Amino acid sequence: MKKIFAGNWKLNKNPSETRRFLHQLKSHEAQLDAELIVFPPATSWEASGSALLDSKITWGAQNVCSQGSGAFTGENSGVVLKDLGGKFVLVGHSERRHLFGESDTLLADKVAFVQALDLTPVLCVGETLPQREAQQTNEINRTQLQLGLAKADRTKRLIVAYEPVWAIGTGKVATEQQVLQAHDFVATFLQELGFSNAALLYGGSVKPDNSASLLKIPHVDGFLIGGASLDVETFVKIIRGH
Ligand code: PEP
Repeated sequence: MKKIFAGNWKLNKNPSETRRFLHQLKSHEAQLDAELIVFPPATSWEASGSALLDSKITWGAQNVCSQGSGAFTGENSGVVLKDLGGKFVLVGHSERRHLFGESDTLLADKVAFVQALDLTPVLCVGETLPQREAQQTNEINRTQLQLGLAKADRTKRLIVAYEPVWAIGTGKVATEQQVLQAHDFVATFLQELGFSNAALLYGGSVKPDNSASLLKIPHVDGFLIGGASLDVETFVKIIRGH
C-alpha cells in the first residue's frame, strides 16, 4: 500500500490560493510515490475539483452533514462534494468533536452516509491530555472506534486517523513510543471489529524533521497534517522524506 499524506487546511485558503497551491503541488506529482489528499474548506471545493481534474492528487471535505439535502442551514452536503469530484470526508476531527460538540452517534451516521455515497471516510480518534494523564488513551480510542464505526460498511474503504488532541496544532508531537503503542492498539481493535483493511494515519504536529522516523513505526500508513500542509514546499518535504 502506498503511504498516504493528507493535508487538513482547516479554515485557510480561498479559491485563488487553493488553485495556486494545487498547481504548484501538481508540478511535484510525478516525483512523489504516495497517495496525496488535500482537505480544503468548503468554499474552495469547486476550485479544488477543477484544479485536480487532470491529476491523481485527490481531495475531500473537512466535514459534511449526515444528510444529503434538506432543512439544515449552514451545513455542507456530501452529495455536492461528490458532484464536484471530492473523494474523502474527515469525520470527527478533534475540532469537530471538541469545538462543535459532535457526538459519536452523529459521527456514526456521517461515516455510514459518506460510505453510502461511495466516498471514503477518514474517522479521527484520539485522547485529550487529561485523558492520557488518567491512562484512558486505549479506552477513548476503543470507544470512539466502536461507536463511530457502529454503522460502517466493512466492504468499503475506510481510513482512520489517530490524532492525540494534545498534539494537534501545539507543536507537541507524540513520542515514537506513544505512537507505536496507540497504533498497535487501534490496528488490533480495528481487526477485531472486522476492518482489517483500514489504513491508519497519525496526526499531530507532523513536520519535515519528525516525519521520517514516525513513518517507520508499524501500523503508520501515513499522516494527517494540519499546519505543515499549508505550504507546498513543506508538505512536499514531508512526502519526499519517506
Ligand atoms: C490536524 O489538523 O489534523 C493536525 C494534525 O494539525 P497539526 O498538524 O497542525 O497538528
